[in-house]
Order: sequence, then C-alpha cells, then structure tokens
Amino acid sequence: MTQKWLKNRFQTSRRRFLGSAAGAAALGAFWTEQDLQGWQQNVRTASKPSDLKITDLRVAHVVGAPMRCPLIRLETNQGIHGLGEVRDGASPTYALMLKSRLVGENPCDVDRIFRKIKQFGFHARQAGGVCGIEMALWDLAGKAYNVPAYQMLGGKFREDIRLYCDTTESSDPKVYGQRLKQRRDEGFTFLKMDLGVRLVEKIPGTVTAPLGVSSRTTSRIEHMFTGMELTEKGVALMADYCGAVREAVGWDIPLAADHFGHIGVNSCIRLGKALEKYNLAYLEDMIPWMYTDLWKQITDAVNIPTLTGEDIYLKEPFIELCKAHAVDMIHPDLASSGGLLETKKIGDMAMEYGHAMMMHFAGTPVSFMANLHCAAATENFIALEFHSQEVPWWEDMVTGIPKPIVNKGFAKVPQGPGLGVELNDEVVKQHLAPGTSYFAPSTEWDNERSWDRLYS
Ligand SMILES: [Mg+2]
Repeated sequence: MTQKWLKNRFQTSRRRFLGSAAGAAALGAFWTEQDLQGWQQNVRTASKPSDLKITDLRVAHVVGAPMRCPLIRLETNQGIHGLGEVRDGASPTYALMLKSRLVGENPCDVDRIFRKIKQFGFHARQAGGVCGIEMALWDLAGKAYNVPAYQMLGGKFREDIRLYCDTTESSDPKVYGQRLKQRRDEGFTFLKMDLGVRLVEKIPGTVTAPLGVSSRTTSRIEHMFTGMELTEKGVALMADYCGAVREAVGWDIPLAADHFGHIGVNSCIRLGKALEKYNLAYLEDMIPWMYTDLWKQITDAVNIPTLTGEDIYLKEPFIELCKAHAVDMIHPDLASSGGLLETKKIGDMAMEYGHAMMMHFAGTPVSFMANLHCAAATENFIALEFHSQEVPWWEDMVTGIPKPIVNKGFAKVPQGPGLGVELNDEVVKQHLAPGTSYFAPSTEWDNERSWDRLYS
C-alpha cells in the first residue's frame, strides 16, 4: 500500500465519519486524533462511552397493552437515549424518584448504578423503578458500544425464545380447552391455564370456609390464613375440569396451571395429587413465595413440578428457595427480580441447584426485548410469558426489528444495539394514560435528595 492510498483512505473515512450522526454527536464531546484513527481501524465507537452522562429521566405512561405500563427514557449528553419500562401496573414514581441519583452518572456502569439504587426497590411492583432503569442502562450501554444487550451478558444460548401465552379463562372447560387449543394452532408450544377454586365454589359441597369467606374476599389474605379448604368433591371437580382441558389441547404439549385461589397448604397438596394424572408442566404460586418450608411440603408431596417467583425482588430469596429445593422451577419477572443481569444471575444460580427458569412478563415490547436478551443469555431458560396476543397495536409500538415480533409462539432475539428497538412515537402517543403526556419534562424530581447510606 502506498502512502498516497493510506492518506486518501484516511481523509475519505474521516469525512464520512464527521458527516455521520455519530460524528456530529462526537463533535460535542472531545475527540482526539487517536480516537479518529481508532475508528478508522474499525473500532466501533457508536458513542464516546467514557464521557457518556445521564442528563434526564422522563416517562410515558401506556395503557391498554393490555395492562398499564410506564415507559421510561434516560437522556444523555451525547444524543443517545435508553428505553426501559416500570413493571405493569406500577407507578412511574418508582422510577422518577431515582432521577436525581442518576443524573451525571455514566450509564455504561450498569452494575455499579444498579447497586447504588437497588435499596429503593422491593418485591413485586415496588421493584419497578429500579428494574426499569436497569433495562434503560443496558439499552444505553449497548448503543454506546454498538452491541446487543445479550452480548454484554455473555452471549446467547439460543436465537429463538419460546413463549407461552396468557389465555382468557372460562368456567366451561370445553370453551377454555378450545381457546387453549387455538393457542396451539397459532404455533405456541407451551400452554398455561388458570385453575381456580372459583370454578367450583358455587357448587354446594366443594369448599369448606368460614361464613362470608370466598375467593372474592380472600384475594388479599395469604393463602394459609383464609380458612378455605377444598372438599373431596371440590378436588374431584377441579381435576375433572383440568382433565377436559388436557384432552382438548393434547397430551404431548406442556400445560401448566396457575391462579388456584387462596386455599390452605393441605388443599394444595390434595389438589396437586389429583392433578398428577394430567402430567402438568408445573403448579404456579399455590402459596406465597416467601414460605420456603411450606413450599417444600407441597413440592415433596406432589409429583408435579412446582414454581414460584414472579414477585420476588433480587436473587437472595431465589437462592433460599433453590438451596432448599422448595420449588422445582423458578419464575422471575425481570421487571421485579432486578433487571437483565440480576435475572441472569438468578437463572445461573438455579441451574447449579438443578432448577429450570421460566420467565414471567406482562408489558410493552420494550420490557419484552429486555426479557428476550436475558432469556437468550441464560442457559436453563425454558419459556417466557406473553399477555398481549390480542392487542393489535402491541407490535406497532416499536420499530427497528423484523415483524412479526411474535411469530408462531417464538420471538427472535433482537440484533440491534442495546435492547434493539426504538419507539414508534405516533403509536405510543395514541395509547397514553388519560391526562398524561409523552416524555414530558420531569424537573420536579431534579432535586430529590436524602442521605441514602445503609450503614454507619
Ligand atoms: Mg402467575
């Protein structure tokens, strides 16, 4: 190669670079000649990661997806932004209250920032702010380094993520069986049904309960404290219902059961035993996740896998469950369990104890993408929940990814940088919560301060 050729190549590349969006953004920062030469040698510098700073956090509150989902957007000093999502049904305040702790931080330090803010999360929806921000940090780090999130988690075990689909229940097992069969016909390869005590409790002789106690009055009372127990007749009718659904969908496809209602541990065991003959994939959330010893009683007594975890925050409670082999499978919701990296850690830990990971999810494509990256990067993953098969505009909320996103019961892991999608502003604006605006300024949260130290 001649000197002249090298000089020409350098100048052409430099012109192309400075004319590009990345070049324009980079001019705002300080780029040395060395940086430009690094870029010339195909070092991917989509941004200037070491100088990247968070400048703002804004929200857009989507409704009808079918659930309420607050989207968040982290802005930066380099023109790139990160998308995240607070867990379904939770308040955007959980994220906004963290804004002042994030502004000025380099979003590429995902784990360090997560450890700084994780004290402001708790189980279920209260984890939504911390986890939504963690998603947005990965989106930013991926955009800054121009790699997909799964790559930063250690690469992928699979391209296609298996989904299982929420399906509206019916008191008629024939109707419900047909709806589930329809899922199978749509290409879904893993099914889950609701199988609650409410199916039978109006039939005399099925449930024993203190006067005035029913599935309607006990939804906020922990299962063991309701005094509700199934009779032999109740157990038999629920098992028959399950059997009719099993016949409709076929015996070769995994079929799980959830939402049993708040019945005592002994009823769970007797029902579980009666369901064994239908070879279910797992029994979900029969009792609250935090009762490790009671879970172990159910798991040891029933020859169907048990599963819990969609409301657990952080890895420690999962470690306790897995170490005790109190459940057979775990079921984190990434928007509660601590985000992408913590959920991969949870999956890896569970695998060491011999337990598989299903993933709970209900939200928009933003959080869905976070789940796909994590599911791709976690070896013992089986299937991811999906609730929006009947929402026609769900996929239209995002761009930058091949459609359909959900295709015959699977979704492909995104290949774009970060989470791999951008919002379709027009579509999202059509589905905002009444009285809210699209990523409006959140200056009222700029000065939220407290002395956050956890020890002295
Ligand atoms: Mg569930």
